[in-house]
Amino acid sequence: MDTIPLNDLGRHNAALRDQLGLAAREVVEGGWYVLGGQGERFERKFAEYCAVPHCVGVANGTDAIELALRCLKVGAHSRVLTVANAGMYSTIAIRSTGAVPVFVDVDPSTLCMDPTSLKQALACQPDAVVVTHLYGRLADAHTISGLCAEHGVPLIEDCAQAHGAQRDGRKAGSFGVMGCFSFYPTKNLGALGDAGAVVTADDALAKRLRQLRQYGWESKYTSAVEGGRNSRMDEIQAAFLSAKLPQLDAWNKSRRRVASQYSQGIQNPRLHLPGQSGDDFVAHLYVIRTAGRNGLREHLRRAGIASDIHYPLADHRQPCIADRFADVALPNTELATSQVLTLPCFPEMTDAEVQRVIEACNTWHD
Ligand SMILES: *Cc1c(COP(=O)(O)O)cnc(C)c1O
Repeated sequence: MDTIPLNDLGRHNAALRDQLGLAAREVVEGGWYVLGGQGERFERKFAEYCAVPHCVGVANGTDAIELALRCLKVGAHSRVLTVANAGMYSTIAIRSTGAVPVFVDVDPSTLCMDPTSLKQALACQPDAVVVTHLYGRLADAHTISGLCAEHGVPLIEDCAQAHGAQRDGRKAGSFGVMGCFSFYPTKNLGALGDAGAVVTADDALAKRLRQLRQYGWESKYTSAVEGGRNSRMDEIQAAFLSAKLPQLDAWNKSRRRVASQYSQGIQNPRLHLPGQSGDDFVAHLYVIRTAGRNGLREHLRRAGIASDIHYPLADHRQPCIADRFADVALPNTELATSQVLTLPCFPEMTDAEVQRVIEACNTWHD
């Protein structure tokens, strides 16, 4: 019996072997490898896809968040609100600017930032808010961007798990002043290596991002903008991404199909399933919750089904910063962290594989 993996990038990219081969050859023969025509082409296409005027390619998703913060002049002495259940990425980006993360609890039903907790936290007069569209589910972006506007605090979206998620015709990345994306290979739109991007409607921010990603240059070898460094996108990754972008909506649809099969098929009272949803969920990860997580994992492993935990440690409990956040209590975040379990969910999953996972979930009892 073959093991059903959490994700299968070999299957995913093999289906595109010809397009990816062509894209690679074009770059190899073109003789230009960093920040060139391929990057510009992808930036144009991805901005269009998100229906946002500008896209600036960078080296990865964590850099995208860090540079977006630097663009807003966030630095030492700044405070930035974020959630603590989204894999530490935003916290690392915030801390690398010198700013201090202030954690906001999540809504127990969506596991995204809770607007009521945000409202209370905004009283600390933060310099920015980073909201994560976790597992591919758009957070309550309308309410959150409204609250941020009321307090005059810029909103940055972490869209690294939510490429193409939309609500009322607005895509992830278009609710805040900037939307940050990762194209790490496992994301809904993935390169064959590291890559990231920031989208924005603001001309001045776009210009500043372009300077920050390349040593703060205003012109070659003249570093005019403080906080600049090297975070460029490779031409070969841009070419791969342009080749893959046209399939993104179809992949998201396939992911959603897997998710809805799970939601209909899994009927085990000990498992709490993610809420049903439409276009605002692109099923990056299918995450269930259970108080008996270890037992279920073992049961799945015996049935040849991979599972994982996203994420096993909340940010404020990560060893590198835990001592500074010892008095922080985030009840919903902490409970979820002890219960979440990710089931296999990827566009190429066959119906037979989905059925095997459903059966394994339904036959589990300790
Ligand atoms: C993957 C991810 C990132 C970071 O992206 P990298 O390209 O790996 O740096 C940031 N935020 C979230 C929610 C992610 O899933």
